[in-house]
Amino acid sequence: AERFEEVPLAPPDSIFKLTAAYKADTHPDKINLGVGAYRDDNGKPWVLPVVKKATDILLNDATLDHEYLNITGLPEYTAAAARLIFGPDSPVITEGRVASVQTISGTGANHLGALFLSKFYGWNDKRVYLSDPTWVNHHAIFPQVGVPVSTYPYYDPQTIGLAFPAFLDALKNAAPRSVFLLHACAHNPTGVDPTREQWGAIADVMLEKGHFAFFDSAYQGFASGDLENDAWAVREFVRRNVPLLVCQSFAKNAGLYGERVGALHVVGASKEAAARITSQLSVLARAEISNPPAHGARLVSLILNDPALFAEWKRDIKTMAGRIIDMRKELHRLLTEELKTPGNWDHIVNQIGMFSFTGINPTQSQALVEKAHVYLTANGRISMAGLNSHNVRYFATQLDKAVR
Ligand code: PLP
Repeated sequence: AERFEEVPLAPPDSIFKLTAAYKADTHPDKINLGVGAYRDDNGKPWVLPVVKKATDILLNDATLDHEYLNITGLPEYTAAAARLIFGPDSPVITEGRVASVQTISGTGANHLGALFLSKFYGWNDKRVYLSDPTWVNHHAIFPQVGVPVSTYPYYDPQTIGLAFPAFLDALKNAAPRSVFLLHACAHNPTGVDPTREQWGAIADVMLEKGHFAFFDSAYQGFASGDLENDAWAVREFVRRNVPLLVCQSFAKNAGLYGERVGALHVVGASKEAAARITSQLSVLARAEISNPPAHGARLVSLILNDPALFAEWKRDIKTMAGRIIDMRKELHRLLTEELKTPGNWDHIVNQIGMFSFTGINPTQSQALVEKAHVYLTANGRISMAGLNSHNVRYFATQLDKAVR
């Protein structure tokens, strides 16, 4: 046993497996719609022009060194990141009530948030409620720190939309002070977000029951192209005083996937409470990573704190979100107008963000992978970022064939 002979082989990560199969495929028309990363119109990764500029500035800054950051991260980064999600005039910002810690991207923020709640939340019923479905890693992150998971109804396959009444019932039926994980915008994997009115009703029940909102914000700006608009739900919950925390990632909206730039923001009751929360988050982070990585945080700090770079970033975000929205429109047009594909495809344009639930079944998904060289997950989720002006017609034609 000391040589680990009994360690069983773990199954490969499903997305990883899909990418490997895509890479091994030699067909010229192959398309990878599994990947959760932005691609430009030529199917290539995109380094944001503003990130190139910020990188140049850092390279030429002779004052920088490779010393450790604080345990809680680069202060000018975490402060600017908090202003970005809550809004600079938010009372939680002006009153100093947010405990912000730099994390290993959104995954690390989810982990640290889960760990913090596991140790310090006043649980009635120790579990987190996740949307059904959700980002698969949520199911791994919480049990890892001793928080069991349950799910709440979210997606309705009949309407390819939100299972709103069932979602509200789950909120009502959960024990008081339960923890609900909510996607701040651009729900992964469905692309289905509540409307503002629905968010309001969700907040009402959460307040009534004393529930805690665990917001995962991995796509601010990426959904609508507008940073303010995509922060609306978080800010509305703050305005109504729903207890909450926010996990924030700059992987997608700044194209900094591999740099691991994220933050956890826990809203406290007072400035003094926030300081105590920060002290405990610091203890937890110290035991796991000691200090977060510097480079990505410096890049994002430059971009958020310099008005000209910030304005340029907003344009880059519009470029990415705009291209994705254009692909949704073009795919919808091809299916409904040109190919007259059976069924209703309006969800393609009604959904938002990187992902779209097409509504096709596992057999149809499998046919696309095996016969059409189009790689997507079995649940019928496609990454809109994998489509471009060169391959959208091929994809529409193959999708049409698969559902006929
Ligand atoms: N949360 C959601 C809902 C996501 O979709 C992702 C990435 O796909 C993440 C968090 C975390 O990503 P990262 O750790 O790269 O920031």
